[in-house]
Amino acid sequence: MLPLRDVVLFPHAVMPLLVGRARSLAAVAEAAEGNRELLLVTQRDPDEPQPTASGLHRVGVIARVQHVTRLPNGSTRVLVDAHDRVTVSRFTVPRSRRAEVEDAHAIQATARAFPLGRRTGGTSDLDVRLRHVFSLFEEYAGMQRRTPPEIVGVLQSIQDPERLAFGIAAHLQLTLEARQELLAKPTLDALVERLSDTLITELELLRLERRIDEQVRGSLFQNQREFFLQEQLRAIHRELGNDDGDGHEELEAQLTARKLPEGINVRAARELRRLRKLSPMSPEAAVSRGWLDWVAALPWHERSHDTLDIKTARDVLDADHYGLTDVKERILDHVAVLSRVGTVRGPILCLVGPPGVGKTSLARSIARAMGRQFVRLSLGGVRDEAEIRGHRRTYVGAMPGRIIQAMRRAEVTNPVLLLDELDKLGSDWRGDPASALLEVLDPEQHRAFADHYLEVDYDLSNVLFITTANSLPGIPEALRDRLEIVRLPGYLEPEKLAIASRYLLPRQLEAHGLAAGDVQVDEAAMTTIIRGWTREAGVRDLERRIARLVRKLTRALAEQGDVALPITVLDSDLATYLGVAPYDAEAASIEDRVGVANGLAYTNAGGEVLEIEVSIIPGRGRLQLTGTLGNVMKESASAALTWVRSRLEPLGIDPEILQKHDLHVHVPAGATPKDGPSAGIAMATAMASALTGRPVRGDVSMTGEVTLRGRVLPIGGLREKGVAAHRQRITHVIIPHSNQRDLAELPDDARTGVTWHVVKSMDEVLEHALRPAAPADVTRQRSVAGADPAGRSKSRSTPRPATRPTVRVS
Ligand code: ADP
Repeated sequence: MLPLRDVVLFPHAVMPLLVGRARSLAAVAEAAEGNRELLLVTQRDPDEPQPTASGLHRVGVIARVQHVTRLPNGSTRVLVDAHDRVTVSRFTVPRSRRAEVEDAHAIQATARAFPLGRRTGGTSDLDVRLRHVFSLFEEYAGMQRRTPPEIVGVLQSIQDPERLAFGIAAHLQLTLEARQELLAKPTLDALVERLSDTLITELELLRLERRIDEQVRGSLFQNQREFFLQEQLRAIHRELGNDDGDGHEELEAQLTARKLPEGINVRAARELRRLRKLSPMSPEAAVSRGWLDWVAALPWHERSHDTLDIKTARDVLDADHYGLTDVKERILDHVAVLSRVGTVRGPILCLVGPPGVGKTSLARSIARAMGRQFVRLSLGGVRDEAEIRGHRRTYVGAMPGRIIQAMRRAEVTNPVLLLDELDKLGSDWRGDPASALLEVLDPEQHRAFADHYLEVDYDLSNVLFITTANSLPGIPEALRDRLEIVRLPGYLEPEKLAIASRYLLPRQLEAHGLAAGDVQVDEAAMTTIIRGWTREAGVRDLERRIARLVRKLTRALAEQGDVALPITVLDSDLATYLGVAPYDAEAASIEDRVGVANGLAYTNAGGEVLEIEVSIIPGRGRLQLTGTLGNVMKESASAALTWVRSRLEPLGIDPEILQKHDLHVHVPAGATPKDGPSAGIAMATAMASALTGRPVRGDVSMTGEVTLRGRVLPIGGLREKGVAAHRQRITHVIIPHSNQRDLAELPDDARTGVTWHVVKSMDEVLEHALRPAAPADVTRQRSVAGADPAGRSKSRSTPRPATRPTVRVS
């Protein structure tokens, strides 16, 4: 008997065995000399050198020794051919202590044949199951790499079910125990059943293994594929001669060239290292690259050289803008400070005025005068703090805020940065942009401006900020006290005339390819354009009209060929070039009217003359208000009426009128919302006029708030209102006593061309504004209640532009 260490031999198998142990060699020798038959039994523990009876399995095979070869290393190779299965009843193990010596004896055993019994079930049943097992084995052999695929062909030709079953068992990759168990199955049915179970389990395991394998390989392959494609791409670029290494050298060079400040330098280097490790196609790489691009594109040290010479600055400002003496003086003060200290740490200049008065172009001139870059940043409609300060990088498509964007455009650290339309700044749940701006404008804080996207501090201290706004009340409170307000109230007619002929016309001629003297617009014609084609505080519309005029002339020149230059445009030519004039160029007829007073308002578009209409209609002494009035205006109307009620007797008003009539106050001007505290005295005047029948003087306009006791309170925007009154050729203006000092700020023409009546009380207002009663008018006013008596309603300047909020009281 030969104990087998690590193999279980099945019947009908041929196998070479390497024999080395003395007892085994003795067994081989004995068999070779005898009938060449050997009993082969597997030992329970493969590592046991000298197994005893209990260390051996009981079921084994008888094999015929085919061939014995002695190998040079002393061991022997034996080819055996197993045939019958046996079960051992007894082992006789020699009691030699030195089993390894030459003369050792073989183990003997008593065994009997143990053929595979068959259950009495139908043969065909077993055949079917065996065929199924075989097909499972086929699949198994296909998947199990250690089973040679040709085995399937060999086994297929075996007819005998027992041979086939043992053949399959022999070629399964199983543990020794499992194989021994298969060998020891009592019947063929049991063996086939066991084989079937084993194969199903093994197949399941193999499939699982393959799935995992595929997944692992799949992901490996994906990475390799990307890597491979990128390598290919790079190779193609190399071939085409546009080899840029890993694509980051250029960026690195840019960053180096920027000479980033210390802390930022470290951040950028870290980010670049990170970027190099990322797959170029990954979203992280895009984010990282975007950030580095921003850092590389921003100016960190670069600055332009300032020309801080007051004389040059004055020349530039004068060359670009007519008049505006005050404003220019303030700007030159600024320049003077800058030339001394380098930076202005004081408040930020804020140019406040209606559209088209030259705020933006002034800021541009300041930049030109100082030799600085100019960038403009419009704040109109900005409601989100992130628009100023940027979004954090974690947001998809995040970007730095507008300030940083503007700095990138400026390309230097010391541009003139115009923050336009400060009063149009919104604020909602997304945060308050004003607070972010506060940080921008605060000299203490803007040295280290924190943009959410950039994450590193940015120094704004070299920037010269200039802000603009249309109206003062619109500027967020917190910002207002950082600003040095410079007001541009609008232009008077002579100023407009000068601007048009000295600046706007030459500029347009140049833009249209004509020489400065080619076209001349005679003064009367220019005045007609200003009066008939524009109604504005600034000169933007005027510039547009002149542009149109020049365009038409250019075309006429092109069409007619030879024309004697210069062309002089006369009053009579205007309709040909500009079409019908939208406004009445003639001085408005200033009529006295009952129940209609001229108020003065201050709007985004500058000062305005507003008509306030009051009508008396049958009713019960109530007040009706129409004309899209704001809350302040409504309160003014109530206060005005209360004051009138308290003065019935002195005014000579019959108390009964008020008991049987309603008062209707109307401020017509389309749907333009109107609000503000300056219409009180005009309302009270119109009411008093309507109730007494005394006409209001048409050449008088007024502004001021009224208290219940008839005191007149001060108002804002007197400069703009004064300019507007002058523009409308109003000759008398009533203003509150407290506003008297503001008169000094008015342009000379506006101050001297108007008679200013400074008042403290409503009684004084009526003194200046009301004419003595005209008896005929009084009766008409009272009898034709509500209707506008003919001849009274003609307004001074018939066609009113939609942009002009008119306040009337009817
Ligand atoms: P704003 O910013 O106040 O709305 P702009 O600066 O856009 O106005 O001015 C409108 C146009 O009027 C510009 O072409 C500007 O040059 C011109 N302009 C305004 N004021 C003057 C002035 N005083 N002298 C010359 N041109 C002027």
